[in-house]
Amino acid sequence: MGRSLECAEALERLSAFLDAEVDDADGDRIRAHLADCEPCLTEYDVEDHIKKLVRRSCRESAPVELHVRIRTQLTVLRTQYTAEQQQR
Ligand SMILES: [Zn+2]
Repeated sequence: MGRSLECAEALERLSAFLDAEVDDADGDRIRAHLADCEPCLTEYDVEDHIKKLVRRSCRESAPVELHVRIRTQLTVLRTQYTAEQQQR
């Protein structure tokens, strides 16, 4: 058992993981964490979904403004998760 990865680390690497910029060992740890941790998995789904949308709508050059907006949304989600966890 034991937790292979803390949420903060998993979330920090989520973007690199989605871009396949982590090595196999890190990828496995992140996958294992996502399987165990629903908030992180939800955030993974959101970020994966957004990345696909961005790729589809603007293949070559996604506007910087859009990236900023996505980042802001993810930060809001992250804040909500933290607030929910603190209420429990
Ligand atoms: Zn987590």
